[in-house]
Formats: sequence, C-alpha cells, structure tokens
Amino acid sequence: MTKKFRVFATCDIGESIHLLRSRGYDVEVYEKPEAPPKKLILEKLKSGIDGLITTLRDQVDAELFEAGKGTLKVVAQYAVGFDNINRADANRYRIPFTNTAEVLTEATAEFAFFMMGDLARRLWSAEHLTRENRWGFWHPYLPFLGDEVTGKTIAIIGTGRIGQAMIKKSTGFDMNILCYDPGYENHEYVRRIQEIKDFRFKQGIIREKMWIRYTNFEDALAHADFVSVHVPLLREGESKTPTYHLFNERTFRKMKPTAYLINTSRGPVVEEAALAKALRERWIAGVALDVYEHEPLPADSPLRDPAIEDRCRLYPHFASAAKITRLSTDPEKGMAGRCVQGLMDVLEGNYGGNLTQMPYVVNKEAFAG
Ligand code: NAD
Repeated sequence: MTKKFRVFATCDIGESIHLLRSRGYDVEVYEKPEAPPKKLILEKLKSGIDGLITTLRDQVDAELFEAGKGTLKVVAQYAVGFDNINRADANRYRIPFTNTAEVLTEATAEFAFFMMGDLARRLWSAEHLTRENRWGFWHPYLPFLGDEVTGKTIAIIGTGRIGQAMIKKSTGFDMNILCYDPGYENHEYVRRIQEIKDFRFKQGIIREKMWIRYTNFEDALAHADFVSVHVPLLREGESKTPTYHLFNERTFRKMKPTAYLINTSRGPVVEEAALAKALRERWIAGVALDVYEHEPLPADSPLRDPAIEDRCRLYPHFASAAKITRLSTDPEKGMAGRCVQGLMDVLEGNYGGNLTQMPYVVNKEAFAG
C-alpha cells in the first residue's frame, strides 16, 4: 500500500482493527462503550481522516460530510440497518457508505424466534416463579399457562434477508406462514418452503398439511397468532410504503386479541405509547421487543409498567449480539470483518475502483452512470 490511510472508529470492533493496522492503516478507536459526542466525530473529520467506522448510534448527516469535505472517502457502518445515515446527504457529497448485511441474518432471525418462544411459553414468568420461591405446587393450569408456537400461524412483515430466515426457522416448528412485503415478494422462496412443508407431510413427519402464502397487511394482521417484524426504518418521503409507526393504534386493533408481536427491526416502526395502551387494555396478548423509539429504553417508558410485565418482554437491542456474528474478522461470517472489508474496498480501490461493483457499498446510485 502506498498511502497510509487514517481511520476513526466510533467504537471498538475487536480484532478487525488489528487487521487494518497490520495493513499499515493509522486507526484511532473511541474506547468508551457509549457513542462519542458528535462534536468529537466532527473534530476527527476536520483533522482529515479518510475513513469513518460508525454504528447505528451515530447520526451521519450533511454536517459530518461537510466537515470531512475533501478528505473523507468512506463511511463504513457496522450494522445492516443504516437509518442513522442520511442517504440523500451522502449522495450529495458523493461519499459511499457500506453496511454489514447477510452476516447477521441468521443470528437476528434466531433471536427473534427465541423471543417469540420466551413470550409465548412465558419463560420469564416461569423462571421468576422458581427463583422467587413462589413455585408452590405442580398443577394442570395454575398459576398460568403459555401458548404453543408449534402449529400456529406467523405473519412475517418484510420478507427480505432476515424475514426469509425467520420463515425458514418457523418452518422447522411446523408453523403456517403469512408473508407481507409491498416491495419484494420472493415467490420462488415461498414455493420451495411449501415444497418442504408438503414433503414433511407426505413423509408422515407432520400430521397436518401446513401452508405459506403472500397476502396483504390487513389479512396478515387479522389471521396471525404471531406477527414478526423485519423491515428497515423508512420515514415519510423515504419510501412509498414507509415503516415509521407501521404499528399504531389502528393496526393493533386489527390483530387478534390472542396474538403476539415480535419486533427486532427498528424501534420507531412501533408506536410505543399505542403499544403500551394495547397491552394494558389487552387488544393483543403480548409483545417482545429488541428495539425502541429511544435507546437505551428510558427509565420512565410506559413499557416498564409492572401491570404489563408478564406480557411484555424487553431486550437491549441484542438480536445480532452473538460472538461470531459480531466479531469474526471473516467478511463472510462477522459484522466486524465485513465492515473493515467494505472500508478497505473503497480506500484501496478494489474492483478497479468501481464503487458500483463493490458488494458492501449501499448507495451505489450516487456513482452509477
Ligand atoms: P432487507 O432489506 O433484506 O429486508 C427488508 C424488507 O422489508 C425488504 O424486502 C423490503 O421490501 C421490506 N419492506 C420495506 N418496507 C416495508 C413495509 N412498509 N412493509 C413490509 N415490508 C417492507 O433487510 P434485512 O437484512 O432483512 O434487515 C431488516 C432490518 O432489520 C434492518 O433494516 C435493521 O433495521 C433490522 N435489524 C435489526 C437487528 C437487531 O439487532 N435488532 C439486527 C439486524 C437487522
């Protein structure tokens, strides 16, 4: 390498930082666990860094691109979601940004599945009963029962990478599947999943015929026992079908009172005040959340209300938080590896320097033609 690239990482992403350093990069890492103040990122950009490694905690917008004008060449986002990056601003300043799609797909989907199981079978309440020495007897239905997942109907809202992985996992649990996605219907995938279901029935592995089909949003909500959300956060003006507050008072009322909601996508997809009301007034049976309108979840959030704690599972944006998924230096396995590979592709001019050919660059449209 002829040039020594300067990189600022807004968080420590482990071994992959050493990988950059071993290639001669000058990498500065913000060592504290919380996000750095924007002022500090602006200072680093003004000092002339070539690359910026960000997470969903950092707001990346025109102010940042302006500060890096003339020197900043790439923003490498350590996440698949990039709603913290203003795409229009990035395009205006002609700065490519990368993400870490695919490597977190299975980990996120399996966590969503486990959240669903925890919620439905009341694992949290059951463990509290045991730990708090309130387990006084074995009884057919006291002090409570859960709902089975096996054999039920799940609605997958958003059938992209993680939605499809969730479909695969739900198929293993003999669930019927309703799919909804206004932007991308993968009928071939659905056909193959149906074949697997039919095969299992023919072989006598399952007793009932199971099904999967695409449908509209209303139908999915009206008939699902579980609704699992796998959409990006898209605000008004960013999409013809925005996802901001997709789940609100109106949509909760369309769900069955026995249905559960699972959200591992982005917090603002669910209107939390309406959700708390839906839980208190039992319009729906329960919810499991990994993401929130404000993160970390504020101390005074209505979702912390003890009156709904038996049916409201809360996790700390943890769905991709598994060792290999988060930290592997292999770009085919880990977010860290994929993040630095995306950064190196741009800075080192891989793919003949053609940004539209680089697999991890998101905003290719800014460089086409
Ligand atoms: P993806 O782009 O492959 O799939 C998203 C799908 O949502 C697309 O098919 C798109 O057409 C669909 N969609 C868009 N608007 C919709 C709408 N209004 N209604 C229904 N579907 C709609 O993305 P992915 O890799 O599957 O990731 C999905 C999201 O999950 C990410 O954007 C990210 O925000 C979130 N995520 C969260 C975690 C976590 O730790 N909790 C981890 C990974 C990803």
